Amino acid sequence: MNKGRVLITGAAGFLGSHLCDRFINEGFEVVGMDNLITGNLENIEHLFELKEFEFYNHDVSKFVHVSGELDYIVHFASPASPIDYLKIPIQTLKVGSLGTHNCLGLAKAKNARIIVASTSEVYGDPLVHPQTEDYYGNVNPIGPRGVYDEAKRFQEAMTMAYHTYHKLETRIVRIFNTYGPRMRLNDGRVLPAFIGQALRGEDLTVFGDGSQTRSFCYVDDLVEGIYRLLMSDYPYPVNIGNPDEITIKEFAEEIIKLTGTEQKVIYKPLPKDDPMQRQPNIDRAREILGWEPKVSRAEGLKITYDYFRSLPDEKLYKKEHNDFKDYIKK
Ligand code: NAD
Ligand code: UDP
Repeated sequence: MNKGRVLITGAAGFLGSHLCDRFINEGFEVVGMDNLITGNLENIEHLFELKEFEFYNHDVSKFVHVSGELDYIVHFASPASPIDYLKIPIQTLKVGSLGTHNCLGLAKAKNARIIVASTSEVYGDPLVHPQTEDYYGNVNPIGPRGVYDEAKRFQEAMTMAYHTYHKLETRIVRIFNTYGPRMRLNDGRVLPAFIGQALRGEDLTVFGDGSQTRSFCYVDDLVEGIYRLLMSDYPYPVNIGNPDEITIKEFAEEIIKLTGTEQKVIYKPLPKDDPMQRQPNIDRAREILGWEPKVSRAEGLKITYDYFRSLPDEKLYKKEHNDFKDYIKK
């Protein structure tokens, strides 16, 4: 049964690849698009043999053409780890702004419904806790995270403008820290960083004193929330994340226990503008989508650890910088 044709940008990335799987399993034809700047074709190689799947290696910040009809666009292309967007700040600004504009233009031309991947980073270092969708945020536009945060805020503004001015069917999902298989082991995000360190027999690097908090959502829960939002008729931003909040120090201790490593926690300087607390208020998702996360951190971490453990040594030892000071120009 063909439910329609969907374009997924960022298809070779962590979340994009899981979204490709979900839409294929739901009975859609999927057009994946990615320029592979932080993604990896290995994440979607199992889809290439399917007639329902096609792939374009293309930078969405340049004019996007897809022939044929499109019913939905799922715009997820963007670097997402703080280290990645420090390394490629201009591409990050471009994909959130120009890339989003191109996707909105394509949605308008095809009369397709579009969902854009926004982020809890639109709340910056939040002064309201937990974060509700009505909170406008506390973002430093010229700090190291500004390239990502402001691109995503612009993305939301542009998406709402297409909704109000062009009457386009739009959806905005504000994603909170999500984890699971297919994350890049060395992308610098805290979960792969800690598990990678444990697997290599290195100490776990906690930034600052580890009292900052995050709330981690397992990828399957997130994908379910995104799917429900896209199929809903709600055009305003919706937080999707797991409200189970934990300090980074406690999180390191959980990883030490899970992996059985004999290593310890060591402390490194806190990067500039690192948010001190983050927890989604998901009342809106509960009410409008009937959604809430189902996978506990213990279950999700076990699956993710098993995935990282199964990777070949060359991935485990592939060096990518995990140190912010390497990327901040003096
Ligand atoms: P990821 O880096 O694994 O995936 C992003 C993908 O987009 C990569 O495959 C990359 O090659 C591709 N891409 C980047 N720029 C592109 C461009 N100009 N043209 C085409 N493709 C491009 O990151 P992810 O964690 O899967 O994040 C996906 C989306 O979700 C991003 O928009 C991110 O901002 C958002 N998000 C993720 C999280 C999270 O916790 N994972 C949290 C909030 C928001
Ligand atoms: N962090 C850490 N050690 C690491 C990597 C990250 O203590 O090796 C901290 C980081 O400073 C932040 C939290 O973990 O407070 C989450 O970082 P991540 O890069 O995963 O994403 P963020 O939520 O900050 O965008």
